[in-house]
Amino acid sequence: MTIDALSALVERDQDHECGGFGRTGACVKVAAVADLPSRFGTFRLVGFWNNRDAKEHVAMVAGDVLNGHDVPVRVHSECLTGEVMGSLRCDCRDQLTAGLEAIAQAGRGVLLYMRQEGRGIGLLNKIRAYALQDQGLDTVEANLALGFRDDERDYSIAAHMLHSLDIKSVKLITNNPEKLRQLAEHKVVVSGRIPHLIPPNEFNRFYLQTKGTKSGHLDLGRTRLAEQGDNAQVEGAAAAGPTEKP
Ligand SMILES: [Zn+2]
Ligand SMILES: [Zn+2]
Repeated sequence: MTIDALSALVERDQDHECGGFGRTGACVKVAAVADLPSRFGTFRLVGFWNNRDAKEHVAMVAGDVLNGHDVPVRVHSECLTGEVMGSLRCDCRDQLTAGLEAIAQAGRGVLLYMRQEGRGIGLLNKIRAYALQDQGLDTVEANLALGFRDDERDYSIAAHMLHSLDIKSVKLITNNPEKLRQLAEHKVVVSGRIPHLIPPNEFNRFYLQTKGTKSGHLDLGRTRLAEQGDNAQVEGAAAAGPTEKP
């Protein structure tokens, strides 16, 4: 059995320890690597261990990215309700799909799947926040009422993961300049940006038509923040841009 370069990172990282990144000082290690054939194409799944909490962040890697320049990268935050349950309170599932399709189309790239549900407050608190929203609070008010900031997400671990993968520079798949700024702050070389576009198709057209009415019913005009903070845009359709406060 030959060990490929990505799998070899597990051995390399065995004794890795650094001062960590960001406000939590979190350090991550590549802990496990395996093939992941998917409906979007063939990926390698890279599991990371971190020294601060039990969150198991993963990277989906397509093609050759080690020591790569201009690697297409999408940073996505977990959303169980949107991605698994098909919730219409957000469009995280479409954003995840669009990110993976963009990477598959590019032939190489990385999707970092960050286990920070509900803009970083966790699943139970997200349900609590939804309950407060059902009673009329907007998302910001709900988060504040629960003792959180309106966005608790932290991209420093994402930055460490990109460094762990020896990626020299990234083209970030995003519409969010804040994400670019935060990664650059943690010494990720951002060589460019790929607009986060969903190619138009029958489903999108239907989705765009229903989005307004259905999400409108759920929101009733309340302030709603996009959970990814980084809405995908359907190619050629300006209406698909962020409908919420960024
Ligand atoms: Zn480290
Ligand atoms: Zn969501």
